[in-house]
Amino acid sequence: MLQRRVWFAGLACFLAVLALGYAEWKNFAHSDADQCYACNRPIHAHSRTVAFIDGRSRLFCCPACALSQHQQMGKPISITQLTSFLTGKALSPDNAYVVRASDVNMCERTKEIVEDDKQSAGLHYDRCAPSLIAFAQRSDAVQFAREHGGEVMPFSQAAAAFDK
Ligand SMILES: [Zn+2]
Repeated sequence: MLQRRVWFAGLACFLAVLALGYAEWKNFAHSDADQCYACNRPIHAHSRTVAFIDGRSRLFCCPACALSQHQQMGKPISITQLTSFLTGKALSPDNAYVVRASDVNMCERTKEIVEDDKQSAGLHYDRCAPSLIAFAQRSDAVQFAREHGGEVMPFSQAAAAFDK
């Protein structure tokens, strides 16, 4: 009987360690997932933005967030890659078009969390708004703006607006 109890305790310990290990591994896997460098939001595959900052390439949740970072740090960051909203393919910022301030914001899903965070500070500022949605073709951007509102412009022009 005693032997059986010891065996059981051993099994319980083993399972606890296993569960802990799994939780830790999950945590690690989660923190390793694509998260925005600036706001820690999960990165949506169709708004992923890469910028070169402090000598390293960093991932941002959306172009608006990366450009806000630019503004807050007061030093230039260069956006090296955008993602096409339509195809999820990488875009060069040099010839991409964006729709600014449409009714689509890929970062909005986690808005509640952000608002909770900011409530104590009494701020109603979202670094990802107004949204910037990137397109490879001007015609795609125009079509999108027709459905969702917003203003079509070359990405360079949207970026310049942050460049103060
Ligand atoms: Zn972000």
